[in-house]
Formats: sequence, structure tokens, C-alpha cells
Amino acid sequence: MPHVTYPGFPRIGRRRELKRALESHWKGETPAAELLKVAADLRQRHWKLARDAGADGVPVNDFSLYDHVLDAAVSVDAIPSRYRALFERDALAGYFAMARGRQDNQVDLHALEMTKWFDTNYHYIVPELSAGQRFAARPDKAVAEFREATETGHAARPVVLGPITFLRLSKTIDGSDPLALLDALLPAWLGVIDALAEAGAEWVQVDEPALVLDLDEATRDAYLRAYAAIAKHATVRILLATYFGGLDSNLELAVSLPVAGLHVDLARAPEQLDAVLDALPADKVLSAGILDGRNVWLSDTTHIRPRVETLHRRLGDRLWLSTSCSLLHTPIDASEEKNLPGQLGQWLSFARQKISELRRYADAVTGDLAAKQTLDRQHEIVAARLSSPEVVRNDVRARVRGLTPQFGQRRSAYAHRVAVQRERFGLPDLPTTTIGSFPQTIELRTARASHRSGKLADDAYLDILREEIRHAVRFQEEAGIDVFVHGEPERNDMVEYFGEQLEGYGFTSLGWVQSYGSRCVKPPIIFGDVARPRAMTVEWSAFAQSLTDKPMKGMLTGPVTMLQWSFVRDDLPRAEVCRQIALALRDEVHDLEKAGIGIVQIDEPALREGLPLRRADWAAYLEWAVDAFRIAAGGVSDATQVHTHMCYSEFNDIIEAVAAMDADVISIETSRSRMELLDAFTRFQYPNGIGPGVYDIHSPRVPAEGEMADLVARALQVLRPDQLWINPDCGLKTRGWPEVSEALKGMVAVARAARARLVAVT
Ligand code: GLN
Ligand code: ZN
Repeated sequence: MPHVTYPGFPRIGRRRELKRALESHWKGETPAAELLKVAADLRQRHWKLARDAGADGVPVNDFSLYDHVLDAAVSVDAIPSRYRALFERDALAGYFAMARGRQDNQVDLHALEMTKWFDTNYHYIVPELSAGQRFAARPDKAVAEFREATETGHAARPVVLGPITFLRLSKTIDGSDPLALLDALLPAWLGVIDALAEAGAEWVQVDEPALVLDLDEATRDAYLRAYAAIAKHATVRILLATYFGGLDSNLELAVSLPVAGLHVDLARAPEQLDAVLDALPADKVLSAGILDGRNVWLSDTTHIRPRVETLHRRLGDRLWLSTSCSLLHTPIDASEEKNLPGQLGQWLSFARQKISELRRYADAVTGDLAAKQTLDRQHEIVAARLSSPEVVRNDVRARVRGLTPQFGQRRSAYAHRVAVQRERFGLPDLPTTTIGSFPQTIELRTARASHRSGKLADDAYLDILREEIRHAVRFQEEAGIDVFVHGEPERNDMVEYFGEQLEGYGFTSLGWVQSYGSRCVKPPIIFGDVARPRAMTVEWSAFAQSLTDKPMKGMLTGPVTMLQWSFVRDDLPRAEVCRQIALALRDEVHDLEKAGIGIVQIDEPALREGLPLRRADWAAYLEWAVDAFRIAAGGVSDATQVHTHMCYSEFNDIIEAVAAMDADVISIETSRSRMELLDAFTRFQYPNGIGPGVYDIHSPRVPAEGEMADLVARALQVLRPDQLWINPDCGLKTRGWPEVSEALKGMVAVARAARARLVAVT
């Protein structure tokens, strides 16, 4: 009988209990002991839930109070010196200081950096190392959680981050190669494993997702050396876990490592099944990640059953059935959802349901009749979904089929458009604008919440929004901005706002997924063909435009971002879903144009993060992603100016694709990375209008005019004056009005001074 398990579980709790306890602890309202109790209760509850759903064994130490990569750093004592004193005094306070910084009358510590965990929307804390760094084992957390689980009678398998992935995700402050620290790291890392063995662990799951990336020779070599040393020393059995993609070119390496078992992702990369089975040595266990740990769909038995049968036939008792990766990336329980449209509720499978599904597949493959019948029923449900009229819309399908290259084409080339637009808008050189949102004040958030709960009537709420827009317009006139925005007060989230108005989207009530620390998102679910029943933003934009003679930008979320920040249906290629959204947005762009909105911004902040993990897959992705943007933006007249906005500082390597979007103007985040982006322009001449952000909105600081002027001067060294725009680097919704007002007035002054200098030199 296959062993049923899963690589990890969500931590935050069905009702975000951990979030509440953390935030209240940070405010000083909940003592540490109480926070730790909430955490311990959640762990127990989740193990029980998994066992009740049919898991044979449970992972432990997958839990974290903030982040598992930070936990891994602490477990080998990789605590940067500035936190050390606090950590020694109060380990929990030191831990949170690394995660989120700490400012009081004794210390002023900034947080460690944070970045995306592979290609997910989870963010991890980047360990900060330095050459000559020492490590020491701190196994207490892992051991304590192992004991908690075994004492309650669970077969527990501790999870630790593997040494190579750990080093690869770390950065060094001196620019040295983190891999050079491997020999220093290993004894400490093995100290943790030893402590777990001593506590009675038989298996330890060692996560090495870096094995699905492109690896250089040095890293491959480091894998061989590290795992040889581990095999020589460790007494536990090691399950080497890979996920988020196929092993491909690293398959031979992975199966050659001297470990007792291998976990592979057969949801993202089902095509590797045969190759893995052929390559796997006869003494190794295979943990087969057959169900997608990053999606929310009840699995299609047509695909999964034959795979499980093959696996079982080839491996017998050496087979474990699991989800592709940790369930961290899914919500907990679909049966809690009561307000979903149509049949959607039946089609979903969150963490709890996925474990039940695994049980069913395991039982069915060993002949259990009831399990087979349940799978037959599941087959019918999924088959009904795939052809349901809620899912398949012939009009939408026909439109996508009818797409031709013309759809992605503006009428004329940029050189011509820019002349027409200059004539129409009469903007000065170095025009100023903002990214879209203005501060979302407490009053505004409260009003939205009361409106949602029915306490505030529609009319009263709309009045508040209109007043907010009037205020934004007055402010921009006073500040002397050139291209206005309405401020987006009606939106609480840039994806949700559009998803709620589109057909094919569903919204859960408790579908929370951790983004980082206590922060969670509730991604919309794209379950059906996407269509736009009516205009979504025209009324607001037209109202805002009626208040001013300055051009008012219409503001839309782009197709790739709409896709990237949602759970996406698994029955259509992502590119196809993206094209459906692009067509819906295209209609919105047309309606804005018809309503007299001359400038439309289509935000694509998530374009960069959708990049596949392997470079070989980049071109194909960029082609359909750029294409979708062009479909949304194409078709407007030459006089309509299309803007886009992206916020990700590292896109020097995709700058050609950004240019291929052919937006008339792009505003882009750079100020935090000190305009490193501009390096790209010494290599590649970006053709169209561009506004590298000069005001870092991620901090409450008001930038000095001198700083902004310096950034403008630097931009002018690599960009033409007639293509440069002056703007902040992202939306202002998280900021407060006083700082925004001061910073934007300063920004306008800087633009005016720079203009005057341009005139003086020409
Ligand atoms: N227009 C959006 C805003 O200003 C863009 C947000 C973003 O880039 N993430 O809020
Ligand atoms: Zn942004």
C-alpha cells in the first residue's frame, strides 16, 4: 500500500489565527507565551486534520512563525551580527527583528531582505552571510516540533531546507560566493540532523527545490560533495525533495545522490514520470507528487489514475503518494466555502481535500472498492466541469480563435504616434504623472468595509468615492502634475476589482494563502471562460475627467497580472486564458477611448515574476505574455496614448520584451535599486516613452529634491529628453497624504528645474 503524505502544510490557519496572534504580539498586546500556544494549537490541529483526511505520516518543522528560510538560517546560527545581542537576550524578539526590523529606544535594526520563493507568490527572508562565516547547530525548534507530533502519536517526518538550496537562496554582504561556505555549513547542518535522529526521527525530508533550476558546474559539484558527506555521517533516512518543476538536465544528478528517497513534482512536470522511473535506483523510495500543491482543483482522474497505476506497478511498496509541493500555496478547506457561484464549490480541492484525494488514489490502486467508486464519481464531477456552460462559452472561444496578428498591432509605429499625441496633449518635456492610486485613508477603508457589510448605503458610499476623486484632482492641479489619475479609491485590490466584474472569476471567503509573515492574499479563482458583461471603469474615469482639463489616465490591470495573481483553471493553457482576459480588457480600453479618455494605463507589475524558472522556457512565455498585452492595447487610435507600469527592479534581462510591448509610455520601479535599471539602456536603446521612478514609495520618507534631481540627471545620461517621464516608482495607496503631497510637489519642482536646464542647453 503506498504511503500517503504531503511535503508541508499551510501555517496561518483557516481563519488566519496565526496572523491575528502575530500582529497582536507585535503590537505588544499578546505575550510571547500566548502566541506560542496559538502556534502549537495550530500545528496539532493541522496534523489531526491531515491524519483524519487520510495521511499516514505528517511533515513537521514545516511550520514557521514567519518564514521557513529564516528558520533554516537560525537553525545553523546564521544570525547577522547586528541582531545577535537582541537574539541572545530574547530569541523571539531577535527572530522577528530579522524578519521585520525593530525600532525602539534601544535598537534601530532594519529587516533582512525579502524575495520571492521560486516562482510562487510566497516571499522568503534572504539569509545574509559573509565569507569566513561560522555556523552552529540550533536544532531546538525542529526537535521540539518533532516531539510534539510524536507525543500525540503521529508518524512524523521533520522537514529541513537542504544545504545547497539554502546557500543558493542566501546572499553575502561581501559579494563572495555563498557556495564557498558549504564546508563550514555542513557540520552545523548535520548537527541538526543528528539531533533529530537522536530524538527518534527515522526519515528527514530535505528540501532541495534548487534541483529544478539551471545549475552550473560548481553547484552540481557542490551537490555531489554535500550529499556524499551527509550519507557518510547521517543515520536517518533522507527524502530528497524537489518541486516546482521537472528535474530535466539534473535528473541524473538527483538520482545519483546517496539518499533513501526522492520526491518529484509530477504535477508541474508529469512528462518526467517515465524518465524518473527508469533512472531511479532499485533501493530508493519515490515520493510521487501527483497532485498539484499550488492549485485548487479537484484532480482529473483521467490523468492521475493511470499515473498512479504505473507508479504502483513499477515501485510496489517503494511508492509514496504526495502533493507536488508543500500545501503552503493552497487554502486549507474548500468545504468551508459557502458563497461560491454555481457548481464551483464541487470542483475545488484545497489542502484538506487534496490529502483525501491522495488517500483515495492509494486505496483504489490497491483494490479498495469504495475508493474506486469515489474516484469514478470524482471523474464524473470533473468531466461535467470541463463541459459545463458555466465554464465553456462558445462566444469567448470563437473570439480567441479569431485572433490575428493585427489585433496586437497599433495602427502606426511609435514615431508617428508620438507626434500625433504630442499635438493632442501638448505636454511639456519631462512630463509628470503618478502610477494610479492615491493614499487609501482609514476613512476610505472603513467606508468600504461598511459598504461591503451593508451598513453603508450605495449612494452614501459613492458620494464618499466621488469626494475622494474631487480631492485627488484638486491636489494634482495644485501640485502642478501634467497627467492626472483619479486615484483608484473605488478599488481595494487591483486584481479583485476587475475579477469581480468579469465572468469566469470566483471569489472565496476563506481562501487565504500566505504571502509573507502575517500577510495573506485571497487570490481569485479563474474557473471559466472570461468575458466582460459591461464596462468596468468608464464611469469613474469619465467622472474624473469631467473635473479637469488636464488629461486623465484610465487605469486597468493587465492580462498577465490578472492571470499571475489568481488561481488559474487547469483545463486550458495559461496563454489561452490570458488571451481571453486580454480581449475583455481590449473592450474596456475601447470604451474608455469612446468616452473621451485619451490616455489609458494597463498595469503589468507581475509580468516579470511570471518568468519560468528555466531560461530555456523564457522566450515562449514572453512571447504570449507580451502578445496578450498587445492585444489589450491594440486597436486604439494613434492619438490614444497607452501607458504601462511595471514594478520589479531586475528586468534588465527582459528589457527587449518590455520594449516589444510597444506601450507609448512605461513607468517603472527603479529608485530603490538606485537606477540600476538604467544600465540596461546603455546596452539597449529603449525606444518609447519611459519614466524610471524617482520617488521610492516603499518607504514613508519624503525624498529630498536633490536626490530626485540626481536620479533625473542620471536618467538623462542614457535616455533622450523627449522620451523621459517623471513619476514615482509605484502606486501611492499605502502612503499617507502629508508625505505624498510634499514628495509630489518636490517631484514637480525637480521636473520644472530640469526642463529649464534643457531649454538652456538647446
Ligand atoms: N495602478 C496601480 C496603483 O497605483 C499599480 C499598482 C502596482 O504597481 N502594483 O496602485
Ligand atoms: Zn508598481
